[in-house]
Amino acid sequence: MDRISLLRGVLLLVFASGLGGCADAPGQDSGGALLPEQAAYDVAHYDLQVSVDPARERIDGRVTVHAVVEERIENVVLNLDRRLSVSEAWTQGRPSTPHAVERRNDKNEVWVDLDEARSPGDTVRVSVRYEGSPRVAPRPPWDGGLTWERTPSGDPWIATSGQTEGADLWWPVKDHPSDEPDSMDIAFTVPDSLVAASNGTLQSVERASDSTTTYRWHVSTPINAYNVTLNVAPYVRLDTSYASTSGMEVPVSAYVLPSDSSRAADALPGFLDQVRFLEETLGPYPARADKYGIAQTPFLGMEHQSLIAYGHDFTPGGLGYDAPFDALHFHELAHEWYGNLVTVGNWKDFWLHEGPATYLEALYVEHLEGDSAYHALTDYFRSRVTGGTPITRTAPTTAEGIYHQDVYFRGALTLHTLRYVVGEDALREILRRFVTPDSARTVPVFRPVTTRDFQNLVETVSGRSLEAFFEVYLYQGALPVLDTSRSDGTLQLRWTKTGDAAFSVPVPVRVDGETHRVSMEGGAGRLTVPGDADVTLDPKGWILRGR
Ligand SMILES: [Zn+2]
Repeated sequence: MDRISLLRGVLLLVFASGLGGCADAPGQDSGGALLPEQAAYDVAHYDLQVSVDPARERIDGRVTVHAVVEERIENVVLNLDRRLSVSEAWTQGRPSTPHAVERRNDKNEVWVDLDEARSPGDTVRVSVRYEGSPRVAPRPPWDGGLTWERTPSGDPWIATSGQTEGADLWWPVKDHPSDEPDSMDIAFTVPDSLVAASNGTLQSVERASDSTTTYRWHVSTPINAYNVTLNVAPYVRLDTSYASTSGMEVPVSAYVLPSDSSRAADALPGFLDQVRFLEETLGPYPARADKYGIAQTPFLGMEHQSLIAYGHDFTPGGLGYDAPFDALHFHELAHEWYGNLVTVGNWKDFWLHEGPATYLEALYVEHLEGDSAYHALTDYFRSRVTGGTPITRTAPTTAEGIYHQDVYFRGALTLHTLRYVVGEDALREILRRFVTPDSARTVPVFRPVTTRDFQNLVETVSGRSLEAFFEVYLYQGALPVLDTSRSDGTLQLRWTKTGDAAFSVPVPVRVDGETHRVSMEGGAGRLTVPGDADVTLDPKGWILRGR
């Protein structure tokens, strides 16, 4: 997700929930501890069909879940926002034998009775028909739902968002990041005058006699639930292709408003330059078997897999700093690797989406404009760190429970400091191998990941234990503070506010124009400095620390 005005969003959220009695409060969240009844099955495939009625701002849909049973179950439990009603449910593709459905609206759950228990290894197919007026997004993409906007020409312009609130805002789903289907089929039916774009590849466009058209899409890879997207407008489609470093020719489709088609066409080569940079940095574009795509949206942006939600008017910047490139697009694109190819299995590790996506912006600035531009941007990131909040937890956490601007900026600067500790080559190897391990260079491996996985790779590549580094930067609230004193020709340095961790991040110190790397083994270090020497701690700002 993009992050501009994030702090304001967080404050509004706190304020709103402080009022009490907020209609959205219970269940308007995603993830957390997985319900045992949901841990008991593994989704293999979703088949989602939705008819969209822009005039009434309603949807009418059906989902079929294909799952493999892992623990004995008597129900299949899905999530669905209470605003949407379930009219019927059936199993094994037999609508004539409806099954009991229980709504547990306090938790936005749908319990479908299977009639008879299923055992590990069984496959089960459950279908649910539903309808209603979904939550209207109060402030997309940060506070999501359906957005029913109008284009400048007055036509319907519809989009979905809901990373932290959950995909169950608009379709019945096992709404947890730990379980992605292996593939997905999506069909959207809209009035004839409109175009419906989604993830994956377009399979067919079918006109019906009732003045509607159905667009069928197929996603050939795993996809996390919040990435599943509905985009409707009188779009024009700009098609081209992109030569991936994998050797594949990747289809490119940009769904844009007719009035913006020429500006979009002008912007597209720059977007594909970004794809190339990220391929060279991280490995081949993950969704290459489907497409690279954007859909122009009435809100800023979201990393929807193979169809980025893009609402930044095809201009540079977009994320609160001056950028010589479209930073909004770049950030969402970076999530195709960090967020979509590797997805946190629990939101407690959310920083693994936003920290790398934000840090990669700095690497791109460095690629375009060099070292000083890189440091100027990481200085900007530093100005946005609040510093009192852990960005990783040990216990399962909901998306709303961890979402904070430090997940972006402290996460990014943790990688920036890690670069100083392990060296640039090692950091680049880590960033690449985490998403594209050597075993996955030919075929991308979409998978859930944890902070522990990341730490293990860092330690493997660097050949050193970094337990204290991760403990202090990710799990501890306070940032480490560097105490210094200077006397008798010696500069003494000591790390404080590092808890019980043996924090030993080295410190660059410039003495009369020459920069030294001061070892901090045991949390302390010293450097001989002449009495009249000009001394500057960390002159380039490599080390994330508090004051
Ligand atoms: Zn993001």
